[in-house]
Amino acid sequence: MNHHAPERPADLVARLRATFATGRTKPVEWRTGQLRRLRAMLTERGADLATALRADLGKSSTEAYRTEIDFTVREIDHTLDHLAQWLRPEPAPVPAHLGADARAWTQYDPLGVVLVIAPWNYPAQLLLAPMVGALASGNAVVAKPSELAPATSAALAELIPAYLDTDAVAVVEGGVPETTALLAERFDHIFYTGNGTVGRVVMRAAAEHLTPVTLELGGKSPVFVDRDTDLDVVADRLARGKFLNAGQTCVAPDYVLADPETAAALERALVRAVEALFGTDPQASPEYGRIVNERHFDRLSGLLDSGRVAVGGASDRTAKYIAPTVLADVDPKSPVMQEEIFGPILPLVTVSGLDEAIAFINDRDKPLALYVFSESEETRARIAAETSSGGLGHGLPLAHLTVSDLPFGGVGESGTGSYHGRYSIETFSHRKAVLEKPLG
Ligand code: NAD
Repeated sequence: MNHHAPERPADLVARLRATFATGRTKPVEWRTGQLRRLRAMLTERGADLATALRADLGKSSTEAYRTEIDFTVREIDHTLDHLAQWLRPEPAPVPAHLGADARAWTQYDPLGVVLVIAPWNYPAQLLLAPMVGALASGNAVVAKPSELAPATSAALAELIPAYLDTDAVAVVEGGVPETTALLAERFDHIFYTGNGTVGRVVMRAAAEHLTPVTLELGGKSPVFVDRDTDLDVVADRLARGKFLNAGQTCVAPDYVLADPETAAALERALVRAVEALFGTDPQASPEYGRIVNERHFDRLSGLLDSGRVAVGGASDRTAKYIAPTVLADVDPKSPVMQEEIFGPILPLVTVSGLDEAIAFINDRDKPLALYVFSESEETRARIAAETSSGGLGHGLPLAHLTVSDLPFGGVGESGTGSYHGRYSIETFSHRKAVLEKPLG
């Protein structure tokens, strides 16, 4: 069906619910068929998405493919490879009082109509990767891209209906009014990625209908760098992870904790690493992105004097450019240490050692990710045991979220629920308990 005038949210949800009620989305063939169509969309029209991502965020084509388009293709392929196995009913042992002829198992049921709300920073990946899980689980989907990445939102609104089953999948573009109107409807699951303030709005709206939610939020993801590590390796990996997408990554290293001696040596290594990656004028580097809009540019500019500039510090408002910046000697009370930075500024904060680092982390909200660079197995084990975070990365920032067999999600303020791979099936299905006792 093609709708030229925007459909009212109530009509849209009713239409998708009617499709779901026919049972059409349930067979595994429909699910894998939709995943293949989505894959075709990404391979045939990836260039259109890359162009949109450059317009919205100055993303290089390499980065657009690596972190959004190919990333989603890999998630689709992993799901296509394993879906039949993941959906297999799982037998459960039956207690003796039910008799030897009783059987019990769990099976995954689709939920119905699910809503996916995406943010602007990876505007394609963060709409499409949850959709992979929702479709693989046999649901109808309403997808709401971020209005703050308007080119990508428009591209997705054009492409998704051209490739997917329009009776079961719809894209709704818009900002707060449109999303508020959608949230008034009853969905069977709401999957929200973005900030915690809106996360609370989403959870409140969902509560009206007892709709379960997944909240993929953010926060300040700390890094601990131990003494006696190879700081050139650490600096290179930190700089790549931090300055990808100009620091606008939910799992980007937010700040670094190290003892004073390590911090001083790391500072010098980071200066070298930034130059090696982006040259002496990162504004001229085709690989370096831009800040999404003026509002975020102004917010980030206000954080540049929170410490001594070791490298970077330059900015250009008309180009929405902020240089990859490392701040040294940063006071934990300074503005840059109050909220998630979500931009290309890396503060170095000194602590006396591991105990103080653990206390520092545990004094604050549970982060989405925590990164540790240490040669000491004992240190790594202590951090794993004594802190709580959505994910934990030893030696390499960001990479844990590319492992499809790991659940991706936060804890506490950094979110609730998770997805990717088989964890997406858990999120977008109901695990139904079944008992069967013969009548004979
Ligand atoms: P955003 O401003 O694009 O908002 C996200 C979505 O919420 C958009 O679709 C927007 O239309 C909608 N929205 C905004 N206000 C709303 C309201 N009042 N009611 C209903 N819907 C509303 O993105 P953002 O929140 O700035 O994203 C950045 C945050 O997201 C950061 O904190 C980041 O860490 C987090 N994030 C988390 C993940 C993750 O996977 N955990 C990934 C990316 C970003």
